[in-house]
Formats: sequence, structure tokens, C-alpha cells
Amino acid sequence: MNKENYFGVSVSSYDYEGIIDDIRHRMAEGENSTIIAVNPEKVMSAEKNPELMELINSATYQIPDGIGIILASKLKKGSIRSRVTGVDMMDRLLKFAADEGHRVFMYGAKPEVVMQAAENIQKKYPAITIAGTQHGYEQDQSKVVAKINESKADILFVAMGSPRQELWIREHMDGLHAKVFQGVGGSFDVFAGHVQRAPKVYRDMGLEWFYRLMKEPQRFKRQLALPKFLAKVLFSK
Ligand code: UDP
Repeated sequence: MNKENYFGVSVSSYDYEGIIDDIRHRMAEGENSTIIAVNPEKVMSAEKNPELMELINSATYQIPDGIGIILASKLKKGSIRSRVTGVDMMDRLLKFAADEGHRVFMYGAKPEVVMQAAENIQKKYPAITIAGTQHGYEQDQSKVVAKINESKADILFVAMGSPRQELWIREHMDGLHAKVFQGVGGSFDVFAGHVQRAPKVYRDMGLEWFYRLMKEPQRFKRQLALPKFLAKVLFSK
């Protein structure tokens, strides 16, 4: 599989369609697939945290979610030229599920958020089977696992923030019948219409970070990871 490496962290160079094609193939072979979103902030944390690094690198696909990885790939003459965002990846998987008859389970977020998101997804993809939903504040994990298995879901989205959702997936994956696992952060909030994404012009220009900074100035500290990361890329050989 095509991967690039940034300070020890693997990043998949597949685009949306490449990942869907690969997943289709892996599902036919009965293999599990996991998707984790990677951005400069996560690369910088993983450098200081070997467990996080291992967690990211053990995923099947590390998607380049964030303009920083694209810029780094350009600087390093890599081949990653467009973002693969967590929320858009989820949307492509939903379409794939609707078109090819795979059952979907949504785990995470507040009760009203996951309900609303499921309702909106059902409207957007009438052919989809949402086999079940579960909010992200249930303490009894064995109950959650049993519920997911009873639903006979093939694709599981876990929306509890990173790295909590990825740790959950890793811990429970072997006991689940689902074959595709994606940690999707705040994506249920987006599908529920509770959180607006940046307008398309900002996204197309690679300025989603700027839009989010204007909306939530407290993100400034988190966003400092981007220039720090790029400076590091520039001065690494
Ligand atoms: N969440 C949850 N259970 C928890 C804590 C958080 O389901 O115990 C949900 C929360 O309701 C929200 C999502 O996890 O929907 C957090 O998304 P956030 O934007 O923080 O994640 P990021 O995209 O930054 O990783």
C-alpha cells in the first residue's frame, strides 16, 4: 500500500476512491479495515508519544486530513495532493454502503445528535440501512459491543474524539463482526447540522483552518501545530 512518512507517522496516499476500492476488496476477503485521520497536530503529538504513534501506524489507512500534510508532501516531493477529510470519508463510505448494501452502525456523540445525524443520513441516502445507533455516554461497554453485533453492522463509525475513539476501536475490534471501522470525531455533529463546516470556497483554497480560527479563536493554540510542523518539514532533510 502506498504510504508516506512524516517524522515516523505513516500517511496513506490514496484518495477517496482509492480507499473505497481497496476496502471493497478487503471486505470480500474478510479482512478488517481501520481508518484514522492524520493532521500536523497529531503528527507532532505522536512524535512525543510512542503509543499514539503505534496506534496511528497500525491503522489500515491514515488519511491526510488537513492542509499541513498536503503542503509537507509537496515540500518533500511526495504524491499526496488533496485532502481526505474524516467527514468526507464518512460520507463516501455512507454512499458505498447505500449503493452496495452494507449495514451501518453509528456509535458516539450526544443522544439527540446521533439520532438527528442518522435521520439526516437516511434522508440523504434513502437506500441505506442504518442498522443501529448508540450515543457516546454509555458506561457499559459490553452492552455497546453486544448491541453493535446484534445489529449485524458491516461498517462502524465511532464519534468520541481522538484518540479515545481509536483506542475504543482497537480494544473492541476483535469482538465485533463489523469489517470497516472509522473514528470520525465531531462528524455526527456535522451530519446532525449542529456544526457548520467552512464554506466550500475556504475548503477549496485550503483555508478551512482560517475559517475555523475566525469562528473559534480559542483554536489558535492548537493551530500553532501547523506552522511548527511545516518549519520542521522544511528543515528536515
Ligand atoms: N463524545 C462522546 N463521548 C464522550 C466524549 C465525547 O460521544 O465521552 C463525543 C462528543 O459528543 C462529540 C465528539 O465526541 O460529538 C467529539 O468530537 P470532537 O470534535 O471533540 O473530536 P475531534 O474531531 O476534535 O477529534
